[in-house]
Amino acid sequence: MYGALPTDDKVQRKAVALASRCVLCGVACESSTHIFLNCSFSCDVWRNILLQINKSWTGFPSIQLLFSWWRKKLKLVPLRTIWGPLIVIACQQIWLERNRRRFDNIKRPHSQVVSMCFREVRYCSKSDGVRIKSMHDLSLARMLQIPISNSPARPILEVKWKHPPPGWLKLNIDGSSLGNPGSSGLGGTFRNHNGTPIKCFATYLEVRTNFTAEVAAFMVGNSQALD
Ligand SMILES: [Zn+2]
Repeated sequence: MYGALPTDDKVQRKAVALASRCVLCGVACESSTHIFLNCSFSCDVWRNILLQINKSWTGFPSIQLLFSWWRKKLKLVPLRTIWGPLIVIACQQIWLERNRRRFDNIKRPHSQVVSMCFREVRYCSKSDGVRIKSMHDLSLARMLQIPISNSPARPILEVKWKHPPPGWLKLNIDGSSLGNPGSSGLGGTFRNHNGTPIKCFATYLEVRTNFTAEVAAFMVGNSQALD
């Protein structure tokens, strides 16, 4: 793709007399940039692929820029695990269609090439499935019929408050801020072995970070325990 494929312009550069016409659109001379970026057939393929994820095809002056744009969108698109392979699969399917037309005289419409791209993505994801992290991921996976990963559910850790032993007091503290930093405060409660509150405290801290509020709660609680 980066000038490695034997497109007509490359063959012509080796001083081979060759009349060139793109077999995908039948209009322009064949080059890598034309086949993958400028050809009306390929543009229809890209447009249809991007439509599935609500992105539009704006065209790119070079294949490097297309790949760079594709990489930048990686964090923003739903089902991003298929996004990386999809660009490679789409290029491969465009090239295979070019070869089918040129050497086997078989033509497929762009819609069928798009379907084959997603079929390949399904095949690649068949063994492990894709991880679902949002409703967008789920609806896209269902629409494209991509298998969903059956990763085991996260183990549930049960946390329970326990009474302190007889003769002991237990102190629970908390510090929090509304925003970070933001208006913050701290508080705490001492309880005996029956769970009965013995002493409580609460203080407003003005604007602090949540970490400062938590540490302040510990310091004040510690000081109150010594009293
Ligand atoms: Zn063309």
